[in-house]
Amino acid sequence: MPSQKIACSTCDLLIDLPHLLAGEEAHCPQCDHIVAWQVRGSLHTSLAFLIAAAMMFILAVNFPFLSFESRGLSREITLWQVAAEFFGEGMPAVGIGVGALVIAIPGFLLLSHIYILVTVLFSRTLLPSSVFLLRMSSHLSPWNMVEIFTVGTLASLTKIASLATVYFGISFWAYLAFSIALTVSLLHFDRRHLWSLVDVPAQKKNDVKHVEILL
Ligand SMILES: [Zn+2]
Repeated sequence: MPSQKIACSTCDLLIDLPHLLAGEEAHCPQCDHIVAWQVRGSLHTSLAFLIAAAMMFILAVNFPFLSFESRGLSREITLWQVAAEFFGEGMPAVGIGVGALVIAIPGFLLLSHIYILVTVLFSRTLLPSSVFLLRMSSHLSPWNMVEIFTVGTLASLTKIASLATVYFGISFWAYLAFSIALTVSLLHFDRRHLWSLVDVPAQKKNDVKHVEILL
C-alpha cells in the first residue's frame, strides 16, 4: 500500500504520512502544525459506544417517547409518531425529513459502523460492502442530527410545559443516551486508522519533521 498523502490544513503542503502507532502524532515539516495523530484504542472505543448506542436505539424506537396530560385528556406519542404527526398536519416533506434525520440516518450510521468495525477489527479485512458503507456514511454523517433533535425537543418542552403536563417516556431517556453514545462513537471513528489496519503501509517518515509519542 502506498504511503498516505495528507495536506497540511495550515500551509497546504502535501505530505507523505507515515504509519502512526497508538499515541503518536505527525507534524508538518514546513509549519510544524500537527497534521495527524493516533488516539489509543480509538476504534475499539468507537465500537463499544456503538454497541451501547444500539441498545439505547432499540429502546428508543419501541417505547413511548412523551406523554401529555391536560384538562383530563392524555396522549402518548412514540418516536415514529413525532415524524408521522407532520403528515397529519399537511407537511409530509417535513415528516420525511424528520424521520430521515432523526431515525433513518442515525440508524444507518449505527448499523454500518458496527458492521465495518467488527469486520475490520476481528478479521483485518475491509469487505467490498464495507467500502460502500464507508462511502455512504461519509456522505450521510453531516445529516445525522440526533443532538440537534434532542436539544430542540428539550427547548420546545419548556413552552409545552405551560400548556400541559409532560411526562418523559423510556424512549426519551433512551434517545438521549443514544445521541450521546452515537456522538462519542463518531468522534472516535478514525477512518485513517481504519485503512491502516487493513493494509499497513511501510514506515515512511522522511517527509514529516518528526513523530512524537504522546502520553
Ligand atoms: Zn504546514
